[in-house]
Parts: sequence; structure tokens; C-alpha cells
Amino acid sequence: MNDSRICTIDGPAGAGKSTVAKAVARSLGWQLLDTGAIYRALAVVAEARAVAWDAEPALAALATEMNVRFQLEGDRNRMFVTVGQQPEEEVTGKLRTPEISNGASAVSKLPTVRAALLGLQRRLGERGEVVVEGRDTGTVVFPTAGAKFFLTASAEERARRRWDELRAAGQDIDFARVLGEQVARDEQDTQRAAAPLRQADDAALVDSSGVPLEAVIARIADAVRARFRLT
Ligand code: C5P
Repeated sequence: MNDSRICTIDGPAGAGKSTVAKAVARSLGWQLLDTGAIYRALAVVAEARAVAWDAEPALAALATEMNVRFQLEGDRNRMFVTVGQQPEEEVTGKLRTPEISNGASAVSKLPTVRAALLGLQRRLGERGEVVVEGRDTGTVVFPTAGAKFFLTASAEERARRRWDELRAAGQDIDFARVLGEQVARDEQDTQRAAAPLRQADDAALVDSSGVPLEAVIARIADAVRARFRLT
């Protein structure tokens, strides 16, 4: 059994991972390492430097030079980036646009980019007491993490959450289309050659379909406390 005080939470988009990971980190008083945000930040930095999201060698070079820092403040996980000797820049507000979602998806497919960002992710988690959120954090980034979870929900439920978000943002869109896009994205995530989405053998499966996220948060936080005998 491994004792490193790292809790990984992986799973498909829309399962409630970000909300759950943030709340679990807060509940434990641990750091939060959002690995998806690192791919998003690389897409932002590349765009600002006119590096295309499929220019693999240039992106890998940029990824090697990139350093990031997170600061969890209440509900917000602020993110700061430095590239080489450039001054630090806050990118929090730039990460969650549809365009950058596409960019993150594109750059995260490239094997040399993933390899370049692996060391950064491991450095950020090496001191332990960290909740790590992503797609391959229990399988590739921290295979020896002491507590691993794979958080999922049915495609319908995840599409319904996304549909609700889009409508709340004033977008008039068909549910069938959102569901179709969700299924296509799942297929891409699980079939891609580099670090496909899959549950680690030693990860606990948590299905959030029809379960309030508060209950999911309590279940995971309690399991981590029990695992590491935290009070
Ligand atoms: O989770 P989030 O939507 O922020 O992730 C942004 C992009 O980065 C997604 O396309 C996701 O597939 C990818 N990603 C990844 N490996 C991770 C985390 C995210 O490939 N560990």
C-alpha cells in the first residue's frame, strides 16, 4: 500500500470533478492541483505568442519553459504562469472560454507536450497533501498516490448538466446536440493514443449520477481521512 498523501480525482468532462476536487481540497486543508488548467494555460500562452495549437515542437519547447503556481482562495483557484524569464502573469480569467477549451484539447493530444508537462505536474505535487484533478493523474502522473478516485456519471446526466449551464448562459441549444457532442468528446478522450482516459486499477469508482455533489464530496473526503488516518 502506498502512503503518499496525494488524492487523485480523474474522470470524464461533466462528472463534477472540478467542484468535487475543490471542495475536497478545502475540506482537508490540502492544495489543489488542476492539471486541466495547465493544458489550458499552455493554450493561452501559445496563442499569445502566435504558436499554433498543433505546432508540436514549438509547443513542447514552450511547455518545458513554463512554470505555474496555484492559489486557492475560497471558491477560486487562481493560476499564475511564468515562461522563461518573463514576468509572472495571472491567467485565471482566460482559461475557461470555449476557444481555450478547444486549444487545451488540441495541445493535450500531443505526446511530447504531455511529456514536457509531466515533470511540472510532479514537482507541483511532490510535497504531498494535495488533491490532483484531471484525466491521467492516477494512472500516469502520480501512479503511487495513496488515494485515487475515478469520478463519473452517465453521458445523459453529464450532458444535462452542460445543457443547463449553456441555457443559464443564454444559449438556445438542442439537448440532442449537447448529448451528441458529449458522446463524441468521451470517445476522443478514451480512444486517443497519448494517455487515454481510463480508471486506474486501484482507483475507487464514484458514480455521481443522481447523487448530490455534496454527498460525493463528503464520501471522498471521508475516505481520504480514513485512508491517511487524518482527524
Ligand atoms: O478538465 P479540463 O476541461 O480543464 O481539461 C482541459 C483539457 O485538457 C481537456 O481536453 C482534457 O482532455 C485535457 N486534459 C488532459 N489530461 C489531464 C487533464 C486534462 O489531457 N490530466
